[in-house]
Amino acid sequence: MEIRDSAARVLERVNAAAQKAGHGAVLVAASKMNGPECVRAAYDGGVRHFGENRVQELESKLAADAYAGATAHFIGHLQKNKVKAVAGRTALIQSADSSALLRLIGKRAEELGITQDVLLEVNIGREASKSGVLPEALDGLAAEAAEIPGIFVRGLMAIPPAGEEKEKTVQYFEQMRKLFIDIGAKKYDNVSMRILSMGMSADFEEAIACGANMVRVGTAIFGQRYVKG
Ligand SMILES: *Cc1c(COP(=O)(O)O)cnc(C)c1O
Repeated sequence: MEIRDSAARVLERVNAAAQKAGHGAVLVAASKMNGPECVRAAYDGGVRHFGENRVQELESKLAADAYAGATAHFIGHLQKNKVKAVAGRTALIQSADSSALLRLIGKRAEELGITQDVLLEVNIGREASKSGVLPEALDGLAAEAAEIPGIFVRGLMAIPPAGEEKEKTVQYFEQMRKLFIDIGAKKYDNVSMRILSMGMSADFEEAIACGANMVRVGTAIFGQRYVKG
């Protein structure tokens, strides 16, 4: 299927799942390893949010004006020495997971005279190989974030372990929803739990049913990614 058509189809599925769940949901196309022309094709299919994992890809697609009329997000692991390339150039950094990183983002935002919106990434599956704050450390990180100028925490993001049974994945989504509600009830300064970003190609409908109001979908829009090499 053409990217434009698969994008339109995924958008329809997201909207149907959201309607069923009784809340809105934003589709973010995860466009890693897909070039500017693929981003434009998804845009033509109705997608208005794009998430990048790698700073270099973000930069080359920004240079190509690939996100014209749309919103760019950063969804990959952000190295501290790359903060300058991302803060102020994306509407939402979804992968903030330490106070050191939040401080650097805030510092850059202040230099630019802006406030950078971020999500706190939670390592909900407690995987050693994954980024994200551990669930029990989330409250502490949100409390620290409240003291950091230049940033505003809009919600949470998670990538549950890959290849699990649907039931197990749904349990992770439920745990995320609970954290989202718990932190939201704490009323920290500069923290407003509005966005719950979870769900990918294989499970975005389940995620929306569990309260996700932002999903990040790659393969179902762009097709299988092949690592060149
Ligand atoms: C690639 C990616 C996605 C989308 O994954 P698919 O399984 O291709 O839909 C979502 N979130 C992040 C952070 C990603 O890197």
